[in-house]
Amino acid sequence: MSMLDVEAIRKDFPILSRQVYGKPLVYLDNAATSQKPRCVIQALVEYYEGYNSNIHRGVHALSMEATERYEAARQKCADFIGSPSTDGVILVRNTTEAINLVARTWARSNIGPGDEILLTEMEHHSNLVPWQQVAQEQGAVLRFIPLTPEQTLDLSDMDRLLNSRTRLVALTHVSNALGTINPVKELGRAAHRVGARILVDGAQSVPHLKVDVQDMGCDFLAFSGHKMLGPTGIGVLYVKQEVVERMEPFLRGGDMVREVWYDKATWNDLPMRFEAGTPNIADTIALGAAIDYLQSLGMEVVREHEIAITQHALDAFQELERVQVFGPGDVAQRGGIISFFCSDVHPHDLGTVLDREGIAIRAGHHCAMPLMRKLGVPATARASFYVYNTEEEVDILVDALKRALRYFARTPNGTRGG
Ligand code: PMP
Repeated sequence: MSMLDVEAIRKDFPILSRQVYGKPLVYLDNAATSQKPRCVIQALVEYYEGYNSNIHRGVHALSMEATERYEAARQKCADFIGSPSTDGVILVRNTTEAINLVARTWARSNIGPGDEILLTEMEHHSNLVPWQQVAQEQGAVLRFIPLTPEQTLDLSDMDRLLNSRTRLVALTHVSNALGTINPVKELGRAAHRVGARILVDGAQSVPHLKVDVQDMGCDFLAFSGHKMLGPTGIGVLYVKQEVVERMEPFLRGGDMVREVWYDKATWNDLPMRFEAGTPNIADTIALGAAIDYLQSLGMEVVREHEIAITQHALDAFQELERVQVFGPGDVAQRGGIISFFCSDVHPHDLGTVLDREGIAIRAGHHCAMPLMRKLGVPATARASFYVYNTEEEVDILVDALKRALRYFARTPNGTRGG
């Protein structure tokens, strides 16, 4: 029994009452993006209908109102992750941009030839490809924490992997492709012991469990608004105070400067120094509304609900023959994500069949192609849960999977028959 009033929550999300191919929508693709409650949609409408204007430089009422609400939303982001200040709460487009910002600024001044960046074998492309560029351009070396057979991090060789040459440990808190929760706090301590910094990709954790940057001890935390009930196009990069104070600007232009001459410029205060040009005002304010909504539910309760639903799913999936579920068996070590594979059928075919029943899941490499190679699968199918999902929806998924798998098992080579 969940402590969330899921039926009441569902009424806050207009999209959940729609049908797909004449069937009620069962939305289980939350790791890709979440749905939006009415209060978030309303915040966008209120901004554009009520006080749309540019921020920070206006002397008129609308601009001051917009500035106030934009900065209030930033404060909500800071409070949500336990940041003691807003100086290091930089508003960006998404997790990807947040990580690129670190790679283009901090890494340029702090990583040199022969230095090492320690990643894991389960990283999203967003937390891999930017570091490949740093490695290529600056002569750094990428190292990878391998996986155990249960797809958790294998920390047995950490003494070699994390050493005096390591400048940065960058890893995901919760894997979008496996569901695994990584021990980021312990890895942060270990990183700091060798003088390295730690970047946590919080795209799949900040929306789903209580994340406190001070308790976690991370230097950088990246996350996206659209996965936490907020709009697309807005994300956050948190940077620890002592680090952000010494970081060079990323994009340059209006708003990020204090004084400009024809040949030089000085930088604005933090965090505006990292927000060149007109920012995404509307979506920032709406992200603030999403955070208010999550706070009203309580992140501990959100996590409890996801543990209950994930346990229910893990149990139900055991009834599915020949289906491999990735990630640890212990629900305490996983987020609300079930990534699975059955050699009888390509995940895309499975996704397409489920779609006809109104069930939205993800099928593909989940932006983790090296991980798929490691797992030895072309892709996986993935169901991912959030506050509005019910155990009944999990049962609908599992029943549909049973039927689909029976059907595909009869057809040769796992391809659909005529
Ligand atoms: N990291 C992880 C773990 C993710 O799940 C995602 C989104 N799938 C990202 C990074 C990238 O997020 P965004 O597309 O919002 O930049």
